[in-house]
Amino acid sequence: LHDRDGKIWMDGELVDWRDAKVHVLTHTLHYGCGAFEGVRAYKTERGTAIFRLQEHTERLFNSAKILRMKIPFSMEEVNEAQRAVIRANGLESGYIRPLTWIGSEKLGVSPKGNRVHLMVAAWAWGAYLGEEGMKRGIRVKTSSYTRHHVNITMTQAKTVSNYTNSILANMEATDDGYDEALLLDPAGFVSEGAGENLFIVKNGVVYTPDLSAGALNGITRNTVLHIAKDLGVEVVQKRITRDEVYIADEAFFTGTAAEVTPIRELDRIQIGAGQRGPITERIQSAFFDIVNGRNPKYAHWLTLV
Ligand code: PMP
Repeated sequence: LHDRDGKIWMDGELVDWRDAKVHVLTHTLHYGCGAFEGVRAYKTERGTAIFRLQEHTERLFNSAKILRMKIPFSMEEVNEAQRAVIRANGLESGYIRPLTWIGSEKLGVSPKGNRVHLMVAAWAWGAYLGEEGMKRGIRVKTSSYTRHHVNITMTQAKTVSNYTNSILANMEATDDGYDEALLLDPAGFVSEGAGENLFIVKNGVVYTPDLSAGALNGITRNTVLHIAKDLGVEVVQKRITRDEVYIADEAFFTGTAAEVTPIRELDRIQIGAGQRGPITERIQSAFFDIVNGRNPKYAHWLTLV
């Protein structure tokens, strides 16, 4: 990913892709205090547009706030940086990665006095869990790792350090031949995937863990709440147990990278008919209509680059 042509926005300017470097004594590299976003741009009839740009930028600033970091740019500048990288790299669609980190002025746990940096990169990225998975559903394993407790590294912040837990869970699940991990919270209730929120469907009602289970407040999750309402499908946010997932009629993951990915199996137990379920399919198709600019009701969620 690092050795290629293109431009990356770094601390206020577009620099050559290969020159977008940090020092090895970067505080965040040692202690993991940093925050990032994952954003997608889609090709629409009116041109390339970033989906829910403002909400992603707000979450980035909130993540930084939770970490007591002050991003030295305005939200408008960060929005503009994301549009700029899509344009500068000539992308019709793609994934955008803003990241804020603490600089290398000094080490030691306290980052006080170190500069806060921000970069934004963008590249082409297809279906995160595979095209096949989008149609047929993926196979998921309950992780042996527990998702973060809400009073450890903060679960409403999309922090760099939270992803050690995601990496462990994802590697364990994929080493065991599954596509993705499902993590439980410290009390044993369903929290989220390594990089996705979870939804299940039972008797026509959609359920998703409430955020006290330590799941990230996903922007795709929120989009699905809107879609379900439009479709007249009831959504309940509540505590969910792993066996409720086993006996659900349908299940799916949501995320900026994962979009809406059906789940056909958890822990080798088939969910429903073992394929993408009918409500999942309707939500997935409504999602792609919205992100690709085919639903005028949500045109305000698309920012042309
Ligand atoms: N949970 C985790 C742990 C994630 O990494 C992500 C991806 N950002 C999500 C949930 C979904 O969030 P969103 O829909 O905002 O991408």
